[in-house]
Amino acid sequence: MITASPSARLSSPATDWREPWRNAITDPAELLQAVGLGDRTDLLPPDDAGFALRVPRGFVARMRRGDPRDPLLLQVLPQRAEHDRVAGFTLDAVGDLSAKAGHGMLHKYEGRALLIASGSCAVNCRYCFRRHFPYGEEIAAASHWREPLERLRADPSIRELILSGGDPLSLVTPKLEELTRGLAELPQVIRLRIHTRLPVVLPERVDDALLAWLAGLPLQKVVVLHANHANELDASVDAACAALRGTGATLLNQSVLLRGVNDDADALADLSERLFAAGVLPYYLHQLDRVHGTAHFEVADDTALALLDALRARLPGYLVPRLVREVAGDPAKRPL
Ligand SMILES: *Cc1c(COP(=O)(O)O)cnc(C)c1O
Ligand code: SF4
Repeated sequence: MITASPSARLSSPATDWREPWRNAITDPAELLQAVGLGDRTDLLPPDDAGFALRVPRGFVARMRRGDPRDPLLLQVLPQRAEHDRVAGFTLDAVGDLSAKAGHGMLHKYEGRALLIASGSCAVNCRYCFRRHFPYGEEIAAASHWREPLERLRADPSIRELILSGGDPLSLVTPKLEELTRGLAELPQVIRLRIHTRLPVVLPERVDDALLAWLAGLPLQKVVVLHANHANELDASVDAACAALRGTGATLLNQSVLLRGVNDDADALADLSERLFAAGVLPYYLHQLDRVHGTAHFEVADDTALALLDALRARLPGYLVPRLVREVAGDPAKRPL
């Protein structure tokens, strides 16, 4: 089972962001109540299919009240369809689980190593491969970065370290500082990339300590956010993005194409425009990893390609994300 914050086990002083982290909604009935659907008991899932509901209240506040098809609600509310067995949807769609279960480091693409820095997230997204992999918070906590740093030292071709998860910003800042102190001894690593959904779902995480850490790094910094719909961005997210850019970080966004959430040209165009207004460039639009329990979110490839054509016809090129799929064994994300 996925547990809450690994950071809660560390001995650093409590910070404000851990308060909303802990106060996330975990009860489906409470979530429906909060969005004005308390009388819609028909929407209550029979169970959570082994992956708990979890969503911060600030994110819930951006959902439309009284709308069972709200694109934010659909990303987090367990659905009956998660039990459907669909051919081709497996437990390990991209062949990563065995690698992730080990030392936490994935080196699939040239020049870039990806570190599963934390198994925790503030939000549980129903479409995520992580639903089947309660991987260890212990990855970073137990080794204190020793193993990943040794692996980096042993491979001078790696110029970029990608922190992923789970959500790497679920770690407390002192833990992140520990890692980058170790990186300072590896001059070949010139870039730090952070894949995180926290500035969107829990912008409180972008606090002074995090900003000071980022600003002080002698590295190029890229923060890849994860938002799937324009409604996920509000003034608090704008402020978090502005602060992150203030540290010198480049801000990108990756989305997952999700049926019922963002599978129309208007929604995708609005998302690109809204991201850019927050100072964030669209980077990837992912075709769903074919993971058991997520088939009801899948969008057919020809539909996806038609959507991309529609985006190209109406947006400047820099606001059109790259439509890709992750294929096990490929040397890069595969363009559709
Ligand atoms: C997606 C991914 C990357 C980053 O790929 P980019 O195309 O550079 O964004 C790196 N390593 C692994 C293992 C990945 O899955
Ligand atoms: S999509 Fe990202 S934030 Fe959501 S559950 Fe998966 S890893 Fe966590």
